[in-house]
Amino acid sequence: MTRKTRVRFAPSPTGPLHMGGVRTALYNYLFAKQRGGDFIIRIEDTDSQRFVPGAEKYIIEALNWCGIVPDEGVDQNGQVVETASERHPHAPYRQSQRKSLYRSYAEQLVEGGFAYYAFDTAEELGAKRAEMESAGETFIYNQTTRMGLRNSLSLPESEWKALLDSRTDWTIRFKMPENRVVKMDDLIRGHVEVNTDTLDDKVLWKRADELPTYHLANIVDDHLMEITEVIRGEEWLPSLPLHYLLYEAFGWTETQPRFAHLSLLLKPDGKGKLSKRDGDRLGFPVFPLQWVNAEGEVSRGYREDGYFPEAFVNLLAMLGWNPGDDRELFSLEELVEAFSLERVVKSGARFNADKAKWFNKEYLRTKSVAELTELYIPVLQSKGITIVKEAQAPDFAGKTFSQDYVERIVKLIQERATFVADFWDIASYLFIAPASFVEKDAAKFWKEENYTLALQVADFILGFEGEFTKESLEGPLEEYIRSNEWPMGKVMNCLRLALVGASSGLGIADIVTLIGKEEFARRMEFIKSTLN
Ligand code: GLU
Repeated sequence: MTRKTRVRFAPSPTGPLHMGGVRTALYNYLFAKQRGGDFIIRIEDTDSQRFVPGAEKYIIEALNWCGIVPDEGVDQNGQVVETASERHPHAPYRQSQRKSLYRSYAEQLVEGGFAYYAFDTAEELGAKRAEMESAGETFIYNQTTRMGLRNSLSLPESEWKALLDSRTDWTIRFKMPENRVVKMDDLIRGHVEVNTDTLDDKVLWKRADELPTYHLANIVDDHLMEITEVIRGEEWLPSLPLHYLLYEAFGWTETQPRFAHLSLLLKPDGKGKLSKRDGDRLGFPVFPLQWVNAEGEVSRGYREDGYFPEAFVNLLAMLGWNPGDDRELFSLEELVEAFSLERVVKSGARFNADKAKWFNKEYLRTKSVAELTELYIPVLQSKGITIVKEAQAPDFAGKTFSQDYVERIVKLIQERATFVADFWDIASYLFIAPASFVEKDAAKFWKEENYTLALQVADFILGFEGEFTKESLEGPLEEYIRSNEWPMGKVMNCLRLALVGASSGLGIADIVTLIGKEEFARRMEFIKSTLN
């Protein structure tokens, strides 16, 4: 029987989601959508020691920003679902709220001989570890040591049964079989074999807080939630033999999910895992959204840095996957079409900050002027500029401009920007007149032999009687300079200095027709009074 594809993203709310975590969620999502399956979110919050307030909300918000919308586990309001319904049949989706169901599964394993009760205190285990280490050995709780420790395998039944009743700090441990080769298949890594003698008797359930550990909760929930593929980070590969053995012990091998372990995201130099510190050091975000920790430290986020979610999703998808040809730009829908686990690379994917920016620039180019204008207006407002809907001539003194004026500017500079915030750096002089002039540019171009010509060109522009648009002005302007045999570059740079405050910027005809003759005349007066 073929089963409906069901995959899950199962984050632990121990902090903000790293971009590698978002990639894991994305690959799960793409895999599910391509097969018409379900993408489920489950919150693995059984480790109360590592619980971080706000992390769950952050994770859901980050996925939502990316457009990675779960079919099950999170409702329309972005809340993790707590009560079961037709759409969310396995609720609650937070493991802490599923607490009561895990104990009987752990006990079922004890009854079947696959697990046992352990009564060793932290001190006793510490002492044992110290003792073995001083003898030059390493301590591992497994077949080699378990009979010398305090558990239901080593103690007489009457004794351990009494401890079970009287004590509240015991655990249930998995009884790792002796010298067995676990044969596993990974959809990315292929066949893997591990001998159980290298593994330990992991704790599955703790009486102290009556909570399962990750391993038990993960297997039980993947089974109950009918998960068909587990796609997760490679840090979980060492747990895979235990997970295989747990499926076997429960008698669930028939419906055991297939596994795919994704390689790590690597530092830009390829040496080691991409960490938060690399981002801080090299100046790029490693988190999807900004995160402020309990100490008030701020970590940068792609969203706050001005990345478009589409660009972020696209760049993440390409970190570790390729379509097999040289295409690089994919919308989420196109990724759903093109994605395949077979083309996910085994080796780590090296992060490249310049490439990340390149993606954003590509997306910015394709955005409509209207959308970019919407995004740019708040930036302008933050600079003290007022934008009005009604058409009006630009008012530099009152710092008030029409939306149409902003649109004309956006259209002009769209191709030059990587982020919307760049618009301001590229052309702030279209809103605020230069108050000073870049010294070296002024020294180079504002020379008498140039500016006397430039002043005549300015008069030509101010006296121009045709329609005052770039299209009708540009030709005659250049023709005027050329017919006088004046040095075009030098003259234009003199004017640019007056208009921009530097010798770089947009074309003269573009600038003057945007700001208008009046403002142009004012800027010419200002440069004369300042530099002459
Ligand atoms: N809670 C685990 C994590 O945060 C999930 C691992 C898995 O997907 O099995 O990485």
